[in-house]
Amino acid sequence: MLMRLPTATIRTQVSVPLRLADGYVSEARVFSFDGLVDGLEHLTFALGDLAACRPPGGHPQTPLVRLHSECLTGDVFGSQRCDCGPQLREAVERIADSGGFLLYLRQEGRGIGLYEKLEAYALQDVGLDTYEANLALGHREDERSYVVAAQMLRALGVSRVTLLSNNPDKARQLRRCGVSVAAQLSTGVHLSAANGRYLAAKARRGAHTFDLGLSATVHATPEH
Ligand SMILES: [Zn+2]
Repeated sequence: MLMRLPTATIRTQVSVPLRLADGYVSEARVFSFDGLVDGLEHLTFALGDLAACRPPGGHPQTPLVRLHSECLTGDVFGSQRCDCGPQLREAVERIADSGGFLLYLRQEGRGIGLYEKLEAYALQDVGLDTYEANLALGHREDERSYVVAAQMLRALGVSRVTLLSNNPDKARQLRRCGVSVAAQLSTGVHLSAANGRYLAAKARRGAHTFDLGLSATVHATPEH
């Protein structure tokens, strides 16, 4: 059933030249919004040529869209406990190449916040997986709502997307909000010595569609 989507409007748009940590250079048009339902400061980065969107393997004439949940430790400091940093890096380049939008959602720790994410890490260090740790802290496994993402897309005039994601819940929620997901592309698997158990839990518990293909290695990899 479609939900009624409250209207958001573009508040500001400004060009921001990007130079990522490895020297990759691009130019983003950054949008802020009024009317987002949770009142948080989510951003959209428009990248590449939006007049000629051609996501390879995606649906022609649709922008490539990534919903990225903020991860301070991974995005900014390169934490290897998760794969957020490499996923963000990959998304920026793929979207810039094909034309589309990176939605940067202020949903630290799958919605539980930064401090509680660190507490969840401490629980993972004594044996819980990333989802069990959230439950132990009194949260649901994943508290993220993508209503604000649908609001931002509508404010930008985008009703049909090729979605860059391994997470089936993102496509499901967007569709419920009236966004047509014409195709879904997987991100790469960014396996490191420290994030194997995290990725295995995402595949097992979150029904993420990536194939680790290395599960024997993954389970044998120590957390640290
Ligand atoms: Zn992360």
